[in-house]
Amino acid sequence: MTGTGPTTQRIDTTRPHPARVYDWFLGGKDNYPVDEELGRRITAIDEGAVRAARANRAFMQRTTRMLAEDGIRQFLDIGTGIPTEPNLHQIAQSVAPDARVVYVDNDPIVLAHAGALLRGTAEGVTEYAQADARDPHAILEQAAAVLDLDRPVALSLIALLHFVADEDGAHHVVSTLVDALAPGSCLVLSMMTADFEPENVRRGIAAYAAGGVTLVARSRDDVAAFFGGLELLAPGVVPVSGWRAEQAPDGDGPVSLYGAVGRKP
Ligand code: SAH
Repeated sequence: MTGTGPTTQRIDTTRPHPARVYDWFLGGKDNYPVDEELGRRITAIDEGAVRAARANRAFMQRTTRMLAEDGIRQFLDIGTGIPTEPNLHQIAQSVAPDARVVYVDNDPIVLAHAGALLRGTAEGVTEYAQADARDPHAILEQAAAVLDLDRPVALSLIALLHFVADEDGAHHVVSTLVDALAPGSCLVLSMMTADFEPENVRRGIAAYAAGGVTLVARSRDDVAAFFGGLELLAPGVVPVSGWRAEQAPDGDGPVSLYGAVGRKP
C-alpha cells in the first residue's frame, strides 16, 4: 500500500510542516531548520509545548494499550506522524501480536519514514497509506483492504483535528469514518484547546499561521460534539495528561490538548 501513494511529492524544507515541528518537540531528528525555528518560537510563547507533545504521545500509548487489552484487534490511525518509538502498532502488538494496524498521513516526510512503521509482528499486519484525512472515503477504501470493517476498529485521530477546521469538514470526516465502523469500535481523539491558556494558545496559533499552517483550538463542548452517538468513556473529555493517567503528569497544570475516547454502541 505504501507504494501506491503520490511518491512524487517533494519534501518542502522552505516552510514548516506540522509533523516535523511535532518531531522537534519530541526531540526527534526528522525536522529541518524551518521546523525548529517555529518550534522554538512556540516554546518561547508556551513553555508547556514540549510537555504537551510528550503527554499527547503518552495518551496515545495508554489508549492503545487499553483498547488492545479490551480485545480490539484492528487499528486505524490517521495523522500518524513521523515514527517515534514506541509507535502505535508496537503498543497494540505487544498486547496482541495479531493486531492489524493501518497508518495514514498526508505528509511526504511520514511516507519517507514509513518503513519504521511497517516493522511489526509476524502474526500481525502493519500498513501505511498516504492519504488526506479530508477524504475519508479514500481512507476507508484503503483501510478495508487490510481491516475487516465488520469487526471493531479503534479509530484514532490523535493531535490531528486541530489541523482540520470545522469549515474544512472536520465533523463530516469523523462521522463518515465512524459510520463505516462496526458496533464496538472506538474513537480516540486529541486536539488543541484554548480553554486553559487562551492568550498563549492564541499567540501560538498566530505563530503557526505566520509559518503557513492553520491551527484551530476547540472548547471542551466542541470536542464532545465529535462523540455524538457514541458512549464517551470515563473520564470524558479531559486534558490528555489526565486521561486515566496512573502517574501524575510531569510539570504543573493541564496541557492545552483535550483527549477523549468513545465507543460505538
Ligand atoms: N498522531 C501522532 C502525530 C500527531 S502530529 C501523535 O499524536 O503522536 C499531526 C500529524 O497529522 C502530522 O503527521 C501531520 O502530517 C498529520 N496531518 C495533518 N493534517 C492532515 C491531513 N489533512 N490528513 C492527514 N494527515 C494530516
